[in-house]
Amino acid sequence: MKKLHIKTYGCQMNVYDSDRMQDLMENVGYETIDTPEGADMVIINTCHIREKASEKLFSDLGRIRPHKNKKEEDGGQMIVAVAGCVAQAEGEEIFKRSKVVDIIVGPESYQTLPDLVGKAIRDKKKQINLDFVPDNKFDVFRELASNVGDAGSSYLGGSSRRVSATKGVQKSSDFVTVQEGCDKFCTFCVVPYTRGAEYSREVSKIVDDAKRLVDQGVSEIYFLGQNVNAYHGLDVNGEPASLAKLIEEVAKIDAVKRIRYTTSHPRDMSDDLLAAHRDIEKLMPFLHLPIQSGSNSVLKGMNRKHTRQDYFKIIEKLRAARPDMGLSSDFIVGFPGETDRDFEDTMDLVRKIGFTQCYSFKYSPRPGTPAADAKIQVEESVKDARLAELQKLLTEQQIEFNKKAEGQVMPVLFEREAPKSGRSSPSPLEGEGGVRGKIQLWGKSPWLQSVIVDVESEEEAKKYFGKIADVKVLKSRPSSLVGEIFE
Ligand code: SAM
Ligand code: SF4
Repeated sequence: MKKLHIKTYGCQMNVYDSDRMQDLMENVGYETIDTPEGADMVIINTCHIREKASEKLFSDLGRIRPHKNKKEEDGGQMIVAVAGCVAQAEGEEIFKRSKVVDIIVGPESYQTLPDLVGKAIRDKKKQINLDFVPDNKFDVFRELASNVGDAGSSYLGGSSRRVSATKGVQKSSDFVTVQEGCDKFCTFCVVPYTRGAEYSREVSKIVDDAKRLVDQGVSEIYFLGQNVNAYHGLDVNGEPASLAKLIEEVAKIDAVKRIRYTTSHPRDMSDDLLAAHRDIEKLMPFLHLPIQSGSNSVLKGMNRKHTRQDYFKIIEKLRAARPDMGLSSDFIVGFPGETDRDFEDTMDLVRKIGFTQCYSFKYSPRPGTPAADAKIQVEESVKDARLAELQKLLTEQQIEFNKKAEGQVMPVLFEREAPKSGRSSPSPLEGEGGVRGKIQLWGKSPWLQSVIVDVESEEEAKKYFGKIADVKVLKSRPSSLVGEIFE
């Protein structure tokens, strides 16, 4: 079998895309390995959101060069493909800067990868495909899935590769992409340029995917989209359906026990979606709803088209619909022109809302986006100080939220055993009733907290894989809870 190595940067969407590329290549006879050494193909799936994305790519390519040379010296051939958002943004430039690269493929055209590899090998010519054809992409995966029956379910979700890597242990939660792209053009963001216009898949296709995944033992369906609550896929009558409607349809599948969605935009928090949080029990009480800044003038500069007051109103409605709602957000500090006063508005908003876990970033200019050309860029040292202050507050809130769970009994969806490294280290329960050498189960609370529980044996652990069981929380940590099965 030929050997494939994939390196993935960035968001959940990229992880999902890498899994799909892996599926495609495995379908044509490749198996995945953990290192580029000896590989017949290397894919670097890039992310353009983070700072110095292209520098990172070229240093990775520099590190791959000796492996490619060695492969050739040994009489073989290594195909190197650059995928993802940097590929889309930089295109042919990548060929000019690195001789190592054979294929450049964008996030909306990677379904053509086996074809491109075939041509690169046969014609000994570099290949590039940066088309935007999302519909075609999903159809290719559906066809693969139906051709190979049950084993093909992985083409629709991210699980099966990791399932086999963990001794046949079933994953219990999986992603289904429902929407891609974005038309919102926030002034700091590259997504509308690299992922293209908003596109929503049909309701029936998503319901089919969810059914296929639950047939494999998945019980939590996680809808994925760059702007997931802008979802407007067609229903069976050919009418656009909202995300709330889609949730309602998938919730009808008995074996689906939990539903989540990410990432949302405040502008698209429609009343029916708020009502879904009240009415659909399977919809988990946790929402990642990025606001980016608490200052209206910064929000205006970002072209977010919502105010801090709008955000407060949404949160008020959400909490009225579901009082136990856990909230998460993304923040950018040091956006061009952000003053101390603007930053204080962000701190004030965080204090008033109270988040359970968040992501926060220093603004970093992305070439080609309007904010990158702004005259008043904020000093790096100021960004550092603001980020540290914000993260301190967010961490305090997360610790406080986790602390509140102590003594509570909550339903936990168990996923798999805790990572091996975790198992060889002392039990998290040690000193609190736990014993070294026990098996650790890892699961998720309704609020997306990691929950770790000790059980006696592998046999007992297996009883819980993929199941929801009540857990009494004994202790909280900054980013996880430790508990015991409560019967
Ligand atoms: N669609 C989502 C939304 O509207 O909030 C976010 C998608 S974006 C892929 C993920 C996060 O990366 C953003 O919420 C933002 O906080 C961060 N981000 C994007 N561009 C950035 C930039 N130029 N500098 C710093 N952070 C950035
Ligand atoms: Fe980027 Fe804004 Fe679209 Fe989110 S809504 S993907 S931040 S342009």
